[in-house]
Amino acid sequence: MADGRDLIYYVDTEGPTEILEDARDISPVIPASVARYDALVGEWVGIAGHRQTRTYLPPANQCPLCPTTPEFETEMPSPDYDVTVFENRFPSFAPIGASTAPEPLGADALFMEIPGNGRCEVVCFTSNHTALVSDLNPVRIGTVIQAWADRTEALGHIPGLEQVFCFINQGAEIGVTLAHPHGQIYGYPFVTPKTAAMVRHADDYRARTGGNLFGDILDREIADGSRIVASNEHWVAFVPFAARWPVEVSIYPRRQVPDLPATNAAERLTLAAIYLEVMHRMEGVFDDTMPAITAWHQAPVNVGREEFWLHMQILSIRRAPGKLKYLAGSESGMGAFVNDITPESAAQRLRDVVLTPTESGAQA
Ligand SMILES: [Zn+2]
Repeated sequence: MADGRDLIYYVDTEGPTEILEDARDISPVIPASVARYDALVGEWVGIAGHRQTRTYLPPANQCPLCPTTPEFETEMPSPDYDVTVFENRFPSFAPIGASTAPEPLGADALFMEIPGNGRCEVVCFTSNHTALVSDLNPVRIGTVIQAWADRTEALGHIPGLEQVFCFINQGAEIGVTLAHPHGQIYGYPFVTPKTAAMVRHADDYRARTGGNLFGDILDREIADGSRIVASNEHWVAFVPFAARWPVEVSIYPRRQVPDLPATNAAERLTLAAIYLEVMHRMEGVFDDTMPAITAWHQAPVNVGREEFWLHMQILSIRRAPGKLKYLAGSESGMGAFVNDITPESAAQRLRDVVLTPTESGAQA
């Protein structure tokens, strides 16, 4: 790109795609992010003060993720694209060379701060400004999965990156600042709190029982069946036993793989089908839009890889038509979630959604 950022094209349509140069006159944004350690709870927090000036909900004719037109130059210089990945112009974490953050404080046990060394990428799934993830066909979802796996592999080789997180925020209610459908990939300079807890608990469980925590949970869910939402040869989708959100589904591969790069071609193909089916089921629960987060739980780059089991989490903050679940006192203040629906009922209403053969992935 004109300011030196990487832009990567993934192509799945037939025929050559015209790749044009980024002709804009833009200068690099110098990110100044750091990570600070909250010693009270043992969690890292990213501090990225430069992001206050980022683009916020521009009108459709000024969308930076639509292809460039003669009237408006965007982040996408070419007239069309299938799937693209590019570095965020306003990253929460940035390569260490570009950081103006101070050196690690090292011995300070109370106020520990490290440079916000990392990588933030944007994944565009389609040049169609108004599409939803569920509007994409299985081939396109497959290309997105390929991009996730490819970038997870690449970011895992960047020195200092400890975890790669692929995710999608969909819907203004979730807080997306650009309406154009897109996802993001974060490369963190630390292991995130939730993943660190999973690694710790999987190790404890192994020491206590000799089993794999994720695999034993999957076996119990399959045996019980009351929270299963969908399944196929390689994947199982279920509402977690202790679901926090009114609409929440986990999708596990049937075999243990640490991350997306470790999945095989058959698993990626069937993943596209079950992901689309789950998205359609979630959208069918309420007669309303479904603001949703898709979150990939992958093994950290350097630790916990032996026990970790890749899985996708999809959740919505929609709790009823026209109503959202907010993180209020108990959730925000104490980290203690209260869910207003039993996970078994939530799974039942997801199973009850009637899908067309296309929506249920039958053609994949
Ligand atoms: Zn757009």
